[in-house]
Amino acid sequence: MNTPQLPSYLSKENIGPWHIFLQQVEQVAPLLDQSLWPWVDTLRHPKRSLIVDVPIRRDNGVVEHFEGYRVHHNTSRGPGKGGIRFHQDVTLSEVMALAGWMTIKNAVVNVPFGGAKGGVRVDPRQLSLSELEGLTRRYTSEISAMIGPDKDIPAPDMNTNAQVMAWMMDTYSMGEGRTVTGVVTGKPVSLGGSLGRSDATGRGVFVTAREAGRRLNVPIEGARVIVQGFGNVGEASARIFAQNGARVIAIQDVSGTVVNEAGLDVVALKAYLTEHKTLLGAPGTETISNDDFWAIPCDFLVPAALESQINRYNAERIAARIVVEGANGPTTPEADVILAERGIVVVPDVLANAGGVTVSYFEWVQDFSSFFWTEDEIYSRLERIMSEAFNAIWQMAADRKMPLRSAAFVIGCSRVLEARAIRGLYP
Ligand code: NAD
Repeated sequence: MNTPQLPSYLSKENIGPWHIFLQQVEQVAPLLDQSLWPWVDTLRHPKRSLIVDVPIRRDNGVVEHFEGYRVHHNTSRGPGKGGIRFHQDVTLSEVMALAGWMTIKNAVVNVPFGGAKGGVRVDPRQLSLSELEGLTRRYTSEISAMIGPDKDIPAPDMNTNAQVMAWMMDTYSMGEGRTVTGVVTGKPVSLGGSLGRSDATGRGVFVTAREAGRRLNVPIEGARVIVQGFGNVGEASARIFAQNGARVIAIQDVSGTVVNEAGLDVVALKAYLTEHKTLLGAPGTETISNDDFWAIPCDFLVPAALESQINRYNAERIAARIVVEGANGPTTPEADVILAERGIVVVPDVLANAGGVTVSYFEWVQDFSSFFWTEDEIYSRLERIMSEAFNAIWQMAADRKMPLRSAAFVIGCSRVLEARAIRGLYP
């Protein structure tokens, strides 16, 4: 597959995630239909970005301030949609990039949403449960002008979960004077959440991995799989791979890397992590260095933690046949070029991890109609949307001899820019 060359002024690495998103737009722009070129600049300009101060009273009585963000990257195709991240390294640049990837992703799976994202720069491990609730509620109230069930619908991302979504939904509802379940997705099922949402991203990762494996003659049965990140996305991906006959031989999280050549017991590992707060020392595992993780020979590598984990420092050593991006932005543009040269196929984030937002869309629809679907209905609709999106991208990549990421961006950007063009400019 041919990889488009980066313009020289954009080829430096160690730049922020927003610049990586801009590089990706730069690469795809010449591949779009010429009628859309006048509108490409839209993608380089997030529609609106809000920076908020989030003061909370700590349990010891001291008031502490945290910085929070909510970005609407593009709403041409519908209300904003994208997760909320609590992490000590969150920056505006990162949230802008994550919102941009949401714009593309929502268009790739053709759900009627624009792209948005939010976050607070905080290490939630340092907060008690009541402090976490206070932070969530104050942040929600600060961004309440931007969110709403037909405006912008947040969801979980790193270090946020169904409980955090329940607090967000409650805070927003108190401001409105009525219960508004559809303002967030990824809620507990008892509050209008959807069956299947917690596993949805991991299930989508698995579906796209299986489809790529089919085309490349890499069956799931007996495949060697390594996973970085053992949270919502990584744990579900690893578990579903194992359930389908793959051998998950290495998992890395923030505590370190554990391996077992015969295959890790993913369910037991999750129970161990819940009890001990670390993967290290789990029965039936050995520990290796985080650096050695990347060089493990495998069929599927699933990065499901942070951005820029596959970069020019480790891309040469990666010994996977297929990389399936569970995380957002895990591969830098330079690493993309190296992997392509080495014949390693990358199933890009905007496709591979779109299962989460797809089931979020189902949740939003169910909340509006107050009519809830069975888990079977959710999974069969998810399966259909993910495999159709995969097929379209695979076909375009083959026809136009381009990497899957470029094909996904061509499809996603075209849908967004067509909507933008037909809406025209106001005033
Ligand atoms: P999570 O908080 O549930 O899990 C994050 C995992 O990454 C944890 O296992 C953590 O230990 C690990 N991790 C953190 N820092 C690490 C480091 N330096 N090295 C190795 N591992 C590290 O988060 P999540 O919801 O699973 O999100 C993971 C990624 O998937 C993010 O990029 C997120 O944007 C993306 N994503 C999430 C969803 C979703 O539905 N939750 C959907 C699409 C994409």
